[in-house]
Formats: sequence, C-alpha cells, structure tokens
Amino acid sequence: MILTSEQRNWTSAWSNFLVMVALTLSSTAASAVTLEGVRMHEAPDSTRVVFDTSQSVQYKVFTLNNPERVVVDLIDVQPEISFDPSVVAVGRKRVSQLRAGQRKNNYRIVIETKEALDPKAFTLRPIEPYGHRLVVDLLVKNRKVVVAPEPRRSDSRDIVIAIDAGHGGDDPGAIGPKKVYEKRVVLQLAKRIVQQLDAKHGFDGVLTRTGDYYLGHRKRTQIARESRADLFVSIHADAFKSANVKGASVYALSDRGASSETAAWLAERENRSDLLGGVGDVSLGDKDPVLAQVLLDLSMDANRSQSIDAGKAVLANLGRITKLHKSRVEQAAFVVLKSPDMPSILVETGFISNPDEARRLSQAEHQDKVARAVARGIEQFMRANPPPGTLLAQRTQGSEFRYTIVRGDTLSAIAQRFGVSSGNLRRHNGLRGDKIRIGQVLRIPGGA
Ligand SMILES: [Zn+2]
Repeated sequence: MILTSEQRNWTSAWSNFLVMVALTLSSTAASAVTLEGVRMHEAPDSTRVVFDTSQSVQYKVFTLNNPERVVVDLIDVQPEISFDPSVVAVGRKRVSQLRAGQRKNNYRIVIETKEALDPKAFTLRPIEPYGHRLVVDLLVKNRKVVVAPEPRRSDSRDIVIAIDAGHGGDDPGAIGPKKVYEKRVVLQLAKRIVQQLDAKHGFDGVLTRTGDYYLGHRKRTQIARESRADLFVSIHADAFKSANVKGASVYALSDRGASSETAAWLAERENRSDLLGGVGDVSLGDKDPVLAQVLLDLSMDANRSQSIDAGKAVLANLGRITKLHKSRVEQAAFVVLKSPDMPSILVETGFISNPDEARRLSQAEHQDKVARAVARGIEQFMRANPPPGTLLAQRTQGSEFRYTIVRGDTLSAIAQRFGVSSGNLRRHNGLRGDKIRIGQVLRIPGGA
C-alpha cells in the first residue's frame, strides 16, 4: 500500500498519540504520590532537607562526586505543577543548588553540595500541620567530636547553665497573632539570657540551639551534658486554646501527673515536638529500657527538689517584671526535663496566644527584662546552692577570692561583676576612692 504524504502524517500522528496515551496511563496508574513542597534547615553539623509528599514515599538516596552531590530518587512520584526546588538552595552554607527532573515514573532531585556530605534519610508520618514527609539529613563529614572541656582546676570552675530555646526548624512551636512564632521569640530570649549570664563572674551560659533548626529532646539534654551543665533551662512562649490566658510560669518535671489543666495541656503540646520537628532515631540507646528507666527515676528524684528550688527563684524574679500565670512552680511530664543528671526547669515566658503578650515578647526591651529576670533567678539559686568545685562554692564558703586588675577595669564594673557593692569592695580593700591600677590585686568579699 502506498500512503500519501497526508496519510503518512496522520499515521505517525496517530502512533504518537498512542504512545502519549500509553505514557499518560502508565504514569497516572503508578504515580499516585505527589511531591508537594520542600524546605531546608541548617544546623551546626548538618543540613536538613524536608520533602512534603501526598502519601508515604519510596526513595533511593546516593552520592556522586565531581562535583559533590546527593541524589534523591523518589519512586513513582510526580511534583505539583508549582513545585520549584531551586529557591530553597539560595544563600545556603553547604548546598549550592537543587535541580530536579522527571525520569520515567520517578522524580529525581539532585542536591549539589559545597563539600562531601553523608546523607541519612527517613520518612515521617503525618502530624498536624504536616502530612507525609521524607527527611534527608546531610551530615558534615569528620564532624568535630565535642570534647568536654578539661575538668578545670577544682577551685575555679565556672557554673555552666544550658539555655535551651524550644522548638525550631519544622517545629514552629506556638504561633501567635501577627505571625509571632514561638521558635523565633525563644531563640532571641535564649541568646539574651546567655548574654546576661556570661556577664556574671563565675557563670557560663551555653545555648543548645543557635539557629532555626530542630533538635530532638534527647539531643538537647545531650548537648547540655557535654557542656557539663549544672542546670538546664528550657525557654518557651506557648499558646493556650483561650486567648485570655496570659502570664509567665515555670515548670519542673513530674511523673505523678500534672499539677493543673494548663500544665497537662502544655506538656502534651511540648512533647509533640519530636514528632513535628522530626527525629529519625528514636531508640533509647543501648541500655535495657527497663533498667534505663529505673536509673533515670532514681537520679531524677535527687534533682527534683533542686529543680523546684531553681524554678522558685526564677519565678520570683519573673513576677517582678511580668504577670504570672501561676504563682507556684508547676509540675508536669515534660519529656525535655527528663534529665537524670542535672536539675532542669522549663520557663513559659508568656502566652503568645494572648495578643498583648505576643507583642511584648517580640520587643527587644521586654525580652531584655525577661532575660535579666531569668538570669538573676538562676544566679540567686546558684548562690544558695553552689555546685562543689565552683568559684561560687569557694566564695560562699568564705574563702576570699582575689582578682587582678586588667586594662579597662573600673571599680564599679568589678563590683557589679562579682555581685558586691562598690562601697563594700572599697572597704574590703581599704580604698578611699575609685582609683585602681593594672596589676593591682583586689580581695573580693565572699558570700556576697
Ligand atoms: Zn513551647
């Protein structure tokens, strides 16, 4: 049979059409999963890439080099029309580009990285406000092993306070009116508290989280432990179902039920964090779980009364600058407070579901007031209960501390730093005026 050119065109058009129908059928049959979005969070030793998918997704992850890249193949997946992965890579520390393309039924995402990274991937089940997620953590190779600081000379150790900004990354915490995000407010507050602590002689503040990324509850206390913290303070600004509820409160751990309805409700919310923020490894470590729990309970009892005392001191100081939600230290089963080896408290600095408090907690001036109050409370608690081997313990025992003047010192600044009055410092050293010279040794009165 001889075909006219018109017939030939028609035949090839028809066969093209058949191929297209076949392709469309096969892809709609197989690609039930839709890729809906992508987010990226940078942590000090890893970068997290989160893919939102319409259902649980199958995937393959592998690395290629020259240039370094991590390839994520999503099996039987098609992206939403608006999906654009390139924007999340802009201005990133370790990732230079994100490219993507359909490869038959699979969707391939290529993450170009500035250094070789170790990918670790896992899926997460839906939890409000998120659906199914695939998390790809890109871990920095040769991660700096955190070496706990050398045990300092036993008579001169600083008291270390771990300040934990709650939430972060995929876990926004509470969201108040005018888009006040708890995760942002509490990081600002935590940084200010550390500043206040560092300005006090004999105190060293350490942040668990330094940017917008998620840390699991266990990781937070682990960082505190590695820093040899004497006290763990988790900072929050939560929300309640009623916008009228306001005021600061302080919590300590309880295994015997919550002390109030709000306490129970908040603990439940805070404990959701690991599900929201996404923790891939939820193993309890290598210890037998029952034994681990027994050990935990035992050592936690010793810390419980200390935690409550620390909480009381912080609460008393907060009460001077803001309304209190509860005038007593509340107790509830907060996971982040289950730390066997250090007293731990959780500070709700206010309710950002209350428009007035949301506004104030976003203001630098109020944040500074809160930070000063929290730091002062911590200092008072520690002065009354100085951990053995610290500078503060030595001074409280009455043995005098000596300080050598360095350039830039003033008498009033030294007095402030050591928590004594200028007059007391002058009298103790037989000084008439405020004149001091470099190299001069001042005796600091103890038990101030
Ligand atoms: Zn919170």
